Amino acid sequence: MPLCPRCDNQVKATDLVCARCRLQLKAHGHPSIELHQATTDEVLCQTCAYDADDTCTFPQRPHARTCTLYQSITAEAERAQGTVRSPQPAPSLAVIWYRYRVWIILLAIFGISLLITVF
Ligand code: SF4
Ligand SMILES: [Zn+2]
Repeated sequence: MPLCPRCDNQVKATDLVCARCRLQLKAHGHPSIELHQATTDEVLCQTCAYDADDTCTFPQRPHARTCTLYQSITAEAERAQGTVRSPQPAPSLAVIWYRYRVWIILLAIFGISLLITVF
């Protein structure tokens, strides 16, 4: 479970604000838009891959203390070397059913038809 960058309180991945210190955790009120926060005196841009490769066009660069696009230089480098893999949670049965229900139903009908034909 992630921690609040300000008070280290455990927060849910979908929490918009920290329940303890009310720090804003997500941008634009949307649970899928991460709002990265500077936790030290350093600004985010100093360690951001988009600042390093000069591709950022955000107006708050190079003084951003919060940013939705922040990408750590070290995380980017480790990912490029293949030493860090993005976590891929295993899909649940509900997700598999939602995605492939048509194929599962067709396969079941085919299987039942095959059984009726054979016996
Ligand atoms: S993406 Fe955000 S943190 Fe990165 S350089 Fe641009 S403004 Fe700074
Ligand atoms: Zn907090």
